[in-house]
Formats: sequence, C-alpha cells, structure tokens
Amino acid sequence: MNGQNFIDGQWVDSHTHDTFESRNPADRDEVLGTFPRSNAKDVDEAVHAARKVFPAWRAMSRIKRGEVFDQFVQLIKKDHEELSRLMARECGKAINESRADVTEGIHMAQYVFGAARMPAGDVIASEIPEKDAYMRRHPKGVVAAITPWNFPFAIPLWLLGPSLVEGNTVVFKPSEDTPLMGQKVVEYLERAGIPPGVLNLVQGDGEDAGRPLVAHSDVDVVAFTGSFDVGSEIRKVCAQSPHKMAVCEMGGKNAVIVFDDADFQIALNAALLSAYKTTGQRCVSSGKLIVHEALYSKFCEVFVKLSKRVNIGDPLNEKTLMGPLINESGRKKMEHYNDLARKEGGRVLLEGGGLRGVEYGKGCYVSPFVYQMDYTPKSRVLREEVFAPNVAIVPFRTIEEAIAIYNDTDYGLALAVITEDYRKARRIREECEYGLGYVNLPSIGAEVHLPFGGVKRSGTGMPSAATLIDAVTHRTAWTVNNAKEIKMAQGLKAEIE
Ligand code: NAD
Repeated sequence: MNGQNFIDGQWVDSHTHDTFESRNPADRDEVLGTFPRSNAKDVDEAVHAARKVFPAWRAMSRIKRGEVFDQFVQLIKKDHEELSRLMARECGKAINESRADVTEGIHMAQYVFGAARMPAGDVIASEIPEKDAYMRRHPKGVVAAITPWNFPFAIPLWLLGPSLVEGNTVVFKPSEDTPLMGQKVVEYLERAGIPPGVLNLVQGDGEDAGRPLVAHSDVDVVAFTGSFDVGSEIRKVCAQSPHKMAVCEMGGKNAVIVFDDADFQIALNAALLSAYKTTGQRCVSSGKLIVHEALYSKFCEVFVKLSKRVNIGDPLNEKTLMGPLINESGRKKMEHYNDLARKEGGRVLLEGGGLRGVEYGKGCYVSPFVYQMDYTPKSRVLREEVFAPNVAIVPFRTIEEAIAIYNDTDYGLALAVITEDYRKARRIREECEYGLGYVNLPSIGAEVHLPFGGVKRSGTGMPSAATLIDAVTHRTAWTVNNAKEIKMAQGLKAEIE
C-alpha cells in the first residue's frame, strides 16, 4: 500500500516526496507499505487545518461528536479480524494480543461515545444563595497525539477519543514502526464521519515530523506515549511555551512481588505473563521478579522450566506466545542488558537472546534470558527498562526489603503483588511508587475507564485513557447572579462608599 498523510480532509503526499517502508518484524523481507517521510511544512499545514476548524468543532454538540465514535465502532467490529492480522504482521504482536489491542481500541471508542452524554461539568454550591455556580469543561484547542508502536490501535484511541469528543482538534503522528495501523485508525474515523480538518495524520519519524509538531506554536497540548528520553525532551520543549501542556506516558521497570504465603500457581502464571506477553515489550512488562526466600529456589526452578517451553514464532500462529522484537535495535538492546546482568553479578539460569536459526532468520526473534540476582542498590540492570524478555529473579527476606528492591528505580509504573495476606498487599499499596497496582494478577492489563499512568520517570502525573479528559480540557468556573443586586463572597461589601 502507498500510505499518505491526511490533512484538512485530503489524502496527500509529503512535501519531501520521500517515503519510508513498514516491514514485518517477523519477516523483514515483507514490506507492508510505504509512507510519507513528512517534514515541518507538512506538520505546519496539518496544525493550520486543525486550528482553522477548531471553533466549528467545539461549537458542535458533544453528543454529535461522540456519535462519530459509535459509527467507528460499528465499522471496526466488522473488520476486527482483518485489522488484528494486519497488526500482527506490522508489529509482530501475537495474534491473540493483536485482537485484544483492537478490542481495547473499541472499548475506548465505546467509552467516549457513552461519556458524551454524561455531565460535562458540575453544579457547585455558592456562598450566596442567589448565585448559581458551575464548573464547565472547555476544550484546549489543538492536540498533538504522538504514539509508540507497541499498542498501535489502542493507544491512538486512548489519545484521540477523549481529545476529539471534548471538542479539540488533533494532529496525529503514529510511530514510524507502525504507520499502517496509524493510517487505518484515521481511515476508519474518516469513514465514521469525522469532518475535514478535525483529525489530521502526519507520518514520519521523530526527528523530522515529531519535533516540529511538538514545537509548533499553534499546538496547545502534546499527548505523548513513548520512551522516557523522548518524553523528557518533549517536556522541556513544551515548558518553553507558557500555554502548552505536555502529557507524557513513558517507560517502566516493573516488578512482580511474590510473598511466602502466595498461591504458587498464581505466582508462576502472573510472573510468566508479566515477563513474556508482547515479548516483554509492554510499558508494564516485568523484568524483575522479587521472590520471598522461602519460595525462591522452587520458584526459580519451575519458572525456568516453563520459560524453556514458551512458544516463540510466527505471530499469526494461534499457539505463539512470543513473536519477534520490533526491530534489530530492540534485539541489540536486549543483548546489551544480558551482558550487563552478567557484569553486575547475575547468575544465568537460562541463556537467551537473539535467535538466528532457519525458522527465525528473517525476523528479530529472541528467547527468554533469566538470571538470579542478589539485590545491590543502584544496579543498572535492576533499575533500567530493557523492553525485552530479560528477567531477574531477586530474593528478599522482609517486606521492607521487597519494597526497597521495587522502589530502587527511577521509574514508577506497574507492580503486581502475589499474596493471600491483605496486610502485606496493603503495605505494598501504601509504600511502593507506581501508577498501576495489581493483586494476584500479572503486572499487565488495562481497562480504558481506569487511569493509566505512572510516577517518577514513567509519567507526568496526568494519566492517559479516560482520565486524559483532565489534560485536554480546561475547567472553567461560571457564576451567575440571580439577585437584583450584587452580592459578593467572603462577606465583601458590594457597595462603593
Ligand atoms: P519512542 O519514544 O521511541 O517513540 C514514540 C513516538 O515518539 C514515536 O511516534 C516517535 O516517532 C516519536 N518521537 C521520537 N522522537 C521524537 C521527538 N524528538 N519529538 C517528538 N516525537 C518524537 O517509543 P517507542 O519505541 O515507540 O515505544 C516504546 C516506549 O514507549 C517504551 O519506553 C515503553 O515503555 C513506552 N510506552 C509507554 C506506555 C505508557 O502508557 N506509559 C505505553 C506504551 C509504551
């Protein structure tokens, strides 16, 4: 397919006339399409189009704006399987996970469609009985939505859904690793009736398309999901414009904490799913299993035994648990951290990393790398995001130690605690730093109506998904006097003497 940008309701090529390819990470010989390598001029046109239609879109009934998403859901449901298969081919995600990604996008669209009929503010009491006071939400203006490759359908919907239904217009730049899924999101919203200019698509990489979009003076909110390095640069750029808000959801160094009273089966399954789903490439994947010393050797033995059995292969095969990594640099990064684990004193239980046999030769396949590691503060491999199946199993004795091992990272995104003791779970809840906590579950899994976001290097304290409404709207106070004279709050005299 020859992909294009979508600007002011028209499918157009980039001013650069340059393109890039999207290739299947499971078979680098397969080209899924070519897409425009956009530049600042394309970005400027897209932002201009979004700004121009903002007043008309804002003036439309919120319920009518929501109905676009109802129509979108009808269309996506018909093509659910086709889209899931395209996703599996474009980003290498196992087919059942690709289906879940499309379903999550549907859920977000359903949520905003329903939310459109819910209150858009509050009626608030006033000190003066004759006054009516309201909090009303106003859209901020033009939202730049910049997304990662690993949830190429759901995350765009998390950002576009609340932004558009609340009356903002959008310029969307998907990841250069998944431009095809980005184009599909926009094609379906166009078919669902989004008016020209309200949603614009600019394809390209971070340098030439992402940077000018973030820096554009007519963008009001940058809603970004991706790595810490990029997110922190975006925050710095936005801080230079007093009006511009940056909402950045970034990486994680997550953990599963297994207590001595844990249900062993739940602990194992939670650890395996947290470590290996999406081949460890979720922001909430766990590369740190913090296991009580009483269970430690048995846990290590069985975890390694099951890790050896993980099905690695074609993402379109229903039995596959781990498809390939997204690209060659993902594989190099994993190998770098495998070496670092050895250097920092890790005892390797399962050698893993790049797979290059006939079956895997055309893709960026890896197998799990599992190691035992005694806790030493500031260990880089226990603190940094690997984004691959590199898994440390770290023993602990007391709950204080478990909390210290978990918190010893600059990230604060997700944790799972496996215990039958509510007091232990409660202490983890209170003393660990995270945005998403799970009890007797894996550290992965999202529902669109729950906040999704982390603390420290993981986020900006403004969670994504449904709660993005707080970033893309401004809360206004509207106060109406119904008396025949002016009455002021705080007992302030209303007459000039
Ligand atoms: P990335 O940061 O490399 O890229 C994300 C997006 O930013 C892409 O669209 C890219 O083109 C763009 N970009 C790159 N440089 C830019 C710049 N200078 N200015 C503007 N845009 C720029 O991330 P990725 O590799 O696509 O995704 C993986 C990362 O995303 C991981 O760190 C993962 O933890 C994180 N992630 C976080 C969440 C979350 O909700 N917290 C969810 C999914 C993924």
